[in-house]
Amino acid sequence: MKLTFMGTAGARFMVAKQLAASGGLYLEEGGTRLALDPGPGAVVQYAKRKVDLTRLGGIMLSHKHLDHSCDINVMIEGMTEGGFRSRGSVFCPSDALDEDPVILNYLRGFPQELVRLEPDCAYELGELSFHSTSRHVHGVETYGFRFRRLGAERDQLGWVTDSKFYEGIAEDHRAEVMLIHTVLTESRPDLPHLGLDDAERIIQEAKPRLAVISHFGMGVWRARPWEVAAAMSERVGSEVKAARDGMTLEL
Ligand SMILES: [Zn+2]
Repeated sequence: MKLTFMGTAGARFMVAKQLAASGGLYLEEGGTRLALDPGPGAVVQYAKRKVDLTRLGGIMLSHKHLDHSCDINVMIEGMTEGGFRSRGSVFCPSDALDEDPVILNYLRGFPQELVRLEPDCAYELGELSFHSTSRHVHGVETYGFRFRRLGAERDQLGWVTDSKFYEGIAEDHRAEVMLIHTVLTESRPDLPHLGLDDAERIIQEAKPRLAVISHFGMGVWRARPWEVAAAMSERVGSEVKAARDGMTLEL
C-alpha cells in the first residue's frame, strides 16, 4: 500500500494562504487507486505528480468541509472523462449530498456508484478494503477509517480525520501506521479539532509502528511540525513523523 500526501495544510488560514498544499491524500493498493479528501487545488497537485485521474477507482470524502471537498466535482469529472465514461465509486457522508450539498447534482450520475458512508461499516474497492469508524465529534458528519489490502489480517493504515478527542478514538483507528489530523498546538474546549496533546495521547494508547501528523493549522505550522514530531517521538518511544507535501509512504 502506498500513500502520497497531495497536501498537508489544515483549516482555513493555512488553506487560504496555501502555505502548504491542500489536495488531500492519494492511496494506492496494487491497481486500485483512491483519492481522499480532495481539498482546494487537489486537481493541480494530482496533475503536478502526474496521476492520471481517469485511472482512479474511487474518490472519498471524510466530510464536506471545504478544505476536504473543494475539488470533489472536478475530480469526479476527471475520473469519468467529463461523464462520458461511467467509472469509479464516490464515497461520502450523506450530508455531502443532502442539505447544503458539495457534490453537484448534474454529475452525480457520472460515477458507477455513489455510496453514502455509515458509521462502523466495512467497504471494498478493488484490492482495498476499509472500515469507517464511529461518527467523529466535528461540525458536520465526519468519519475516520482503517484501511487494509483485501484479505490482509491487519489494518495497515488508520486515518484519524478531523475530530475533537473522544473516548475510543485511539481504538477506532488503531493500525500499523496512523495518520492524525492535528490542527491545533493545544486542544481547546471550544474547537472540534485535535491538538498535539491529543495526538500524543492517541499514539500512546494505540501504539502504532509509525505515527504521522498532518493537516496542520497555522499554530502547528509555526511551531515547525518536523521539530514537534521529533520531540514527540522521544516522549512516546515510537516513531512520529510530520508529513510534507508530496511525501510518499510505503505501508
Ligand atoms: Zn473539518
